[in-house]
Amino acid sequence: MRTLSGVQSSGQLHIGNYYGALRQFLELQNEGEALYFIANLHALTTVRDGELARKLTLECAAAFLALGLDPKKAVLFRQSDIAEVCELYWVLGTVVPNAHLDRAHSYKDKIAKGIAPNLGLYAYPVLMAVDILIYDSDVVPVGKDQKQHIEFARDWATMFNTTYKGEYFKLPNPSIQAATETVPGIDGEKMSKSRKNTIDLFGEEKAVIKAIKSIKTDSTLPEAPKPDGGPLHQLLKVMMPNADWETSWRAGGLGYGKYKDMLIEQYKATFDGPRKRYAELMADPAQIEVVLKDGAERARAISAPVVARVRKAVGL
Ligand code: AMP
Repeated sequence: MRTLSGVQSSGQLHIGNYYGALRQFLELQNEGEALYFIANLHALTTVRDGELARKLTLECAAAFLALGLDPKKAVLFRQSDIAEVCELYWVLGTVVPNAHLDRAHSYKDKIAKGIAPNLGLYAYPVLMAVDILIYDSDVVPVGKDQKQHIEFARDWATMFNTTYKGEYFKLPNPSIQAATETVPGIDGEKMSKSRKNTIDLFGEEKAVIKAIKSIKTDSTLPEAPKPDGGPLHQLLKVMMPNADWETSWRAGGLGYGKYKDMLIEQYKATFDGPRKRYAELMADPAQIEVVLKDGAERARAISAPVVARVRKAVGL
């Protein structure tokens, strides 16, 4: 079984990325082959500063390593280091119907938020499909927001295979963890870099504590039972699924502030170690570069036969 997934280097990673995706990545590195990449080409749709883009790519790699990605087990690489991704993006794009891209949720959401439409955003699912298909991936662990993109990858792989009458692309399957498929942000909407509602993994401790303390709550009094479903309740379920906070939540007796303190303690217990390792890694970027170069070579060895197959099929 070959697992593959990626994370965009478009800003600070947050706990939505961790519980929705990265935690699964780390578990799956122990089962079969695992490839994880930093989606720095995708990030170009939002990061418009070369220096910053480079820094964010490095930070993203450091985050993977600090959280426990073992480069001896999993392949960690930069999306842009495999140049053929862009070639196959064009080739696959020639069989992609515009009607599919027109109904892409993530594109529609971005436009609804007021982001100016451009070809990069519109064709994003095509590049993502190639990211997956070029490595003959079997399983793609992701959060729920990416489900439609994996379905597109399957549809387009089938369309390509039918058009060129062969098994050029393998059909991938998503892996989505129901309990953490959509981690809410502090405002109750989906946690996302672009909404500025995040609890960051490697941000300043003060800012993290402030974010947790700002989780939106209602006016239920401390002594009253608390209602289910708000962002604080959901985050407690995501971060502390096995802890006994639920008894008092249902019975009443504690104010919301106490539950926020519990989350702060849990955040520290989970991420203090990775945060320390992250700082050490960022102090020596050369060692990160060594990992990424080695990862690119290993990824290229896997993509090369797929690229050769596709070139032969289309006559390049
Ligand atoms: P991105 O930052 O969009 O590249 O996302 C990286 C991974 O994190 C993807 O698999 C997303 O589905 C996942 N992800 C991002 N935000 C959330 C969230 N709020 N809840 C669950 N998963 C998320």
